[in-house]
Amino acid sequence: MHDPAWGAAAAGKALAPMTIERREPKPHDVVLEILFCGVCHSDIHQARDEWSGALFPMVPGHEIVGRVTSVGSAASKYKVGDLAGVGCLVDSCRKCPPCSDGFEQHCEGGMALTYNGTEMDRQTPTYGGYSTQIVVDEGYVVRIPAGLDPAAAAPLLCAGITTYSPLRRWGCKPGDQVGVVGLGGLGHMAVKLAASMGAEVTVFSTSTSKEADARRLGAKHFVVTKSAAALEALKNKLDLIIDTVSAPHDYGAYLAMLRARGAMVIVGAPTSSITVSPFALIMGSKSLAGSLIGGIAETQEMLDHCAKHGIASDIELIGIDKINEAYERVLKSDVRYRFVIDIASLRSP
Ligand code: NAP
Ligand code: ZN
Ligand code: ZN
Repeated sequence: MHDPAWGAAAAGKALAPMTIERREPKPHDVVLEILFCGVCHSDIHQARDEWSGALFPMVPGHEIVGRVTSVGSAASKYKVGDLAGVGCLVDSCRKCPPCSDGFEQHCEGGMALTYNGTEMDRQTPTYGGYSTQIVVDEGYVVRIPAGLDPAAAAPLLCAGITTYSPLRRWGCKPGDQVGVVGLGGLGHMAVKLAASMGAEVTVFSTSTSKEADARRLGAKHFVVTKSAAALEALKNKLDLIIDTVSAPHDYGAYLAMLRARGAMVIVGAPTSSITVSPFALIMGSKSLAGSLIGGIAETQEMLDHCAKHGIASDIELIGIDKINEAYERVLKSDVRYRFVIDIASLRSP
């Protein structure tokens, strides 16, 4: 299947039109006509090979919403016309303990990434959502609930699940004091989701201009991280911190704001190492943890939670011709709060 797409021919090259070859659908597959695809900061890290080992040509995009256009003979979950989503992974071994427990993202054999990876045959390259269609096993496809706007739902497939999963795992509940570090794509979803779980949210941001938005999104407090006094005032105040920052920064400063037995979860993925004093964790028996997206069942649970609570992403819808500009704006923390590509722009001549 030939598919028009936009991608990077090599590390750091501007994204440009290309044609990719998709595999022929198998009996358990569905084919989605892609309608919208979110632009995650991970797309930029990978297209620029910042995490190393990237595969080119690369067609990024793992926040995919589309319409089912064909269903394999052995597939039963979806029918033609259904609105469905694909996130960061398109397959896994299905047998190892994490796969059996619903943590396909931790597959011991290595998950098949939606792009910048291969299918489980370890040969066929995968290509992401900056393209017009995708072929995926139905077990790795999720349903977009009625009532969610398809464009604003696209970022839920990565930004949504990546912030929902740690909030659930660390038991976010009414009255909890939750800190969100960085108000970008992931951060703004963390604010909405934590608020929907009843938490009192504090946003930590480098951008003074984002205060009104933070409050509108559901935060009670807004702290400009340059203010040492404001950080000091929050010492021992927070139960849980979700750190979404994409660039190197001081993690220790946030640990001091945790209450005894509190946890800080890193989801932002800069390339540099983290240095914290052991005492920053020992005193107060605090936890420093990481979290990687979420499994398929939890992604569906998150989508259903969002539909129930009327939550989706705040987006700037763009045509594909604006993608390189959008990357530059993301790097300047200048996106309110997720770019989403209208894939119709890849279809028009
Ligand atoms: P984003 O929209 O660019 O948001 C990142 C935010 O971090 C910015 O909006 C900015 O917020 C803050 N920031 C940026 N540079 C900073 C600096 N030098 N110092 C302090 N704060 C800074 O990116 P995103 O799409 O939300 O992704 C965030 C990170 O999560 C990326 O590294 C991405 O690869 C990673 N990620 C991880 C997972 C996972 O499974 N763990 C999944 C998806 C993405 P303010 O303007 O408020 O300061
Ligand atoms: Zn992502
Ligand atoms: Zn597995």
